[in-house]
Amino acid sequence: MTNPADNIEQNGGKGQNENKKGISRRQALKYIGVGTGVILVGGAGGTYGYRRSFRISSADAERLKNVKFVVVGGSVGGLTVAARILRAVPDADITVIEPNEDHHYQPGYTLVSAGVYEPDEVVFDQKSLMFPEMKWVKDSVKTFDPENNRVKTERGETVDYDYLVVGLGVQMNYNSVENFAEALEEPNVGNIYNLDKGIKFSRLRKEFEGGKFVSTYPQGYIKCGGAPQKITWLSEDYWRSKGIRDDVEVHFHSHQHTLFPPVPVVDEAVKPKIEARDIHNHYNQTLRAIDISKQEAIFEEERNDGSKREVRQSYDLLHPMPAFQTPKALRESDLTAEGIGGQIEVDRETLQHKRFRNVFGVGDCAATGAPKTAATIRKQAPVVAANVIDVALDREPYAKYDGTSGCPLLTRYGRCMMFEFDFNGELVNEWLYNSTNETRLWWHFKVRGLKSLYTNILLNGYVNV
Ligand SMILES: Cc1cc2nc3c(=O)[nH]c(=O)nc-3n(C[C@H](O)[C@H](O)[C@H](O)COP(=O)(O)OP(=O)(O)OC[C@H]3O[C@@H](n4cnc5c(N)ncnc54)[C@H](O)[C@@H]3O)c2cc1C
Repeated sequence: MTNPADNIEQNGGKGQNENKKGISRRQALKYIGVGTGVILVGGAGGTYGYRRSFRISSADAERLKNVKFVVVGGSVGGLTVAARILRAVPDADITVIEPNEDHHYQPGYTLVSAGVYEPDEVVFDQKSLMFPEMKWVKDSVKTFDPENNRVKTERGETVDYDYLVVGLGVQMNYNSVENFAEALEEPNVGNIYNLDKGIKFSRLRKEFEGGKFVSTYPQGYIKCGGAPQKITWLSEDYWRSKGIRDDVEVHFHSHQHTLFPPVPVVDEAVKPKIEARDIHNHYNQTLRAIDISKQEAIFEEERNDGSKREVRQSYDLLHPMPAFQTPKALRESDLTAEGIGGQIEVDRETLQHKRFRNVFGVGDCAATGAPKTAATIRKQAPVVAANVIDVALDREPYAKYDGTSGCPLLTRYGRCMMFEFDFNGELVNEWLYNSTNETRLWWHFKVRGLKSLYTNILLNGYVNV
């Protein structure tokens, strides 16, 4: 069996133009020798890997040639699945429906907002990240029709499919906080979940001369559940290094009952460190409104006895967070169900839809209970690719997502706590991370390494179950 990865690059895949530097004959022979070894070992390993995780032979790949796969949403979830399918089935018929020509590396938004990255370091040309084999419908899905295996786009095009993968992500729900949109236009309010407002926040943080900084954490599911904390802590550290820390009060108001609930061990480790920095954490408080004229954030606090009261906090600089929701096309479709906040209703292990067997969900929009991060997608995407292929070959989906996710908690400039955890909030691969320590190594990995893993490994489909 040939390595499908090789086929794709011969057919004009996106890796083809790399490394076009001139080299000597001697070097070339050396590289050929080493390269042949790598190819033999890698090919054998790769073939084993494909067999083991995808159970696909050349004959099976041939059978899938005329099967129509449609991926809705061309960000990291959708593209990683599409690339992974193409690695296994080089001739697969794959359509990606995605309206945006720019692809944003969102995990870098925090670093833009903290003044570490330039904005253009997180924006890529969408086309350059897609394989030429992917057919791109540059439009948004308006409606899903899973009974008839088709979607309709905003511009009225009908796209039929045999197998559908939904990777639509989640978005901020501005309506969940009164005056949220208006507040974002104010000169002392920013938000790192939107690139423009994140650039603005970076400037505000820099120009801040002192006063009260208020940062909030929302109710319900959230994209990257560590980002609001990270920008709070990095801002505090920035003002400390600028020498104005004594002039700044830092308040973090969270809907949650503690600082980092998904992983208790990390929570216990990070909490005293943050409290020692005189950051005031307020728990069980949900942002409901922003009184722009008075410069006050208005929270609903839930007390231990279940009663609720209003709490007002004045601010000089505000980082407010609304709740999240899935895109309208998904939350109003038959693909979701009662009580899951508009997410796609999938089995949390196989990621197959619970009612439509030819539909799968990946990433932030999937109701798995796992954190909504690119690190989660690194583990989910190969499962979806393997299972959609299995189902297309009339087999039961066998690959299982084990709930692993990860988080680089940037606690201050030059320091990061890195860890992976499972569905139960237990640390995994702890031997690698030394999770409860703030280290310089993991800061550099986050700043210099992760983006390259995202673009070169994930989006190229080099991920296995
Ligand atoms: C501030 C911030 C910091 C983060 N930090 C980290 C981090 O440190 N580590 C980490 O692992 N993750 C981090 N993340 C999370 C990570 O970026 C997301 O989990 C990831 O982008 C989710 O990918 P996705 O493909 O599921 O959805 P998204 O990336 O949200 O993409 C959804 C795609 O669907 C498209 N779409 C939407 N509606 C339609 C429609 N109707 N039709 C067709 N297409 C549509 C959109 O244009 C978009 O391209 C961070 C995110 C943010 C915002």
